[in-house]
Amino acid sequence: MKRQKLSKALRKHQKTKHFIKSQLINKNGAVCAICGQPIKDMKDCTIDHIRPISKGGLTIIENCQLSHKKCNQAKGSYWDDKEYEEELNR
Ligand SMILES: [Zn+2]
Repeated sequence: MKRQKLSKALRKHQKTKHFIKSQLINKNGAVCAICGQPIKDMKDCTIDHIRPISKGGLTIIENCQLSHKKCNQAKGSYWDDKEYEEELNR
């Protein structure tokens, strides 16, 4: 039962990730919120939590921004699948 619940949550999670990304692109265009440069390659585009989940941030559009992978890694609050699962289980 538990495994079934988890895979459902993960599917939802993939959808949410995609949804948030497209909403942010619609809103501000594909621009990195950290360095301010356009994100040309979508493979390089990640979601950054403005307030990290570990600090009580939520995965909602208002708390997410787009950034380059390398900018996000430098900042260290990029979308963490594990943390997101924890958020779902809260
Ligand atoms: Zn950047």
